[in-house]
Amino acid sequence: MKVLVINSGSSSLKFQLFEMPQEKVLVKGLAERIGEKIGKFKANDFVVEKPLATHKKALELLTEYLLNPENKIIDSKEEIKIVGHRVVHGGNKFVEPTLITAEVKEKIKELFSLAPLHNPANLTGIITAEEIFPKAKQVAIFDTAFHQSIPVKNHKYAIPEKFYEEGIRKYGFHGISHQYVSREANKRLGKEKSRLITLHLGNGASATAVWNGKSYDTSMGFGPMNGLIMGTRSGDIDQSIIFYMLDKMGYSSAEVQNILNKKSGMMALAGSNDLRDIETAAEKGDEKARLALEMYAGAIKKYIGNYIAQMNGLDALVFTAGIGENSDVVRKMVTDDMNYMGISIDSNKNKNPQKYNGDISDASSQVKVFVIPTNEELEIAKQSYNLVAK
Ligand code: AMP
Repeated sequence: MKVLVINSGSSSLKFQLFEMPQEKVLVKGLAERIGEKIGKFKANDFVVEKPLATHKKALELLTEYLLNPENKIIDSKEEIKIVGHRVVHGGNKFVEPTLITAEVKEKIKELFSLAPLHNPANLTGIITAEEIFPKAKQVAIFDTAFHQSIPVKNHKYAIPEKFYEEGIRKYGFHGISHQYVSREANKRLGKEKSRLITLHLGNGASATAVWNGKSYDTSMGFGPMNGLIMGTRSGDIDQSIIFYMLDKMGYSSAEVQNILNKKSGMMALAGSNDLRDIETAAEKGDEKARLALEMYAGAIKKYIGNYIAQMNGLDALVFTAGIGENSDVVRKMVTDDMNYMGISIDSNKNKNPQKYNGDISDASSQVKVFVIPTNEELEIAKQSYNLVAK
């Protein structure tokens, strides 16, 4: 059965077509700069640059590519039975994969205020896919859903009850990724009941404590700025700083939001949000870059300590996403001096994790340390397929 996965952003649309349940990738690509003068569309080896006025134009181009007899992918659009959509915010309404109906779309709309940058774009993707693939079942997979298992003691803030009733609580993000890599880690451990810490370290970053397959705590909160230091987001800061910026320094709330979201994190500390540049600068002796890396790894260590304390132990620590998968420097800094916690890695394995099936722990480590490439698209395909095939 063919399952199309769509991750729709405000000016981009990423897609993958899978043959399920074989998990075979038939087409992978993206449309970029939608709505701008010149857009770019890429599907497998096919690339074209031309105006893509709307998301619909991008999906039409994809259909043309899929139906082109030369590409031998599908003979008719009806072969695509399921379209799985990534939806960033499901609030506390959505805890599992959900078949999209008019009511579901209405609820996704109600959540616009919680994810103003993402949910509107995700809904556009859904509406467009319904137009182009009217016969397919449309399924929503929510980035917050995996974290709905976080117990109240970990998702409630210590502020007056009326705010909790209003929906102010920890939601957490990157759930699709944390769920995927935690399941892969459990396969490697050979058990489903385990204590894991999964570190999704990309441009956005979050740490999750996964206890017996369920999210138990996570570093992002009501929004995605909290927790670890990220590419351009601050991570944890003292709330009083915000009031100082607003009341004493005269910044508007939109300006503060922009500073903490787009101008902070590694960008503020080291002048770049690309970790490769920062590593190179640090190697050359740049003090700012070195300090930035130390703070970055330090923030992660604090969450590891926190989650080990909460779960009273740890079976595996998992690194994933752009930085987690590729930076041996960050992995080393995060795991250095952690033998008290039972964590120690093999420096050779750390340089080349693929060669060791992603297991970089050394022989003495009580805790397994894994590097597992995330695959959010496959996770969406699997969850959508399982829902419809049930
Ligand atoms: P993502 O958001 O998952 O695409 O990750 C983006 C981040 O991964 C950026 O900060 C990149 O600099 C970082 N990254 C990608 N490749 C490497 C690499 N080989 N070494 C270090 N960082 C990398």
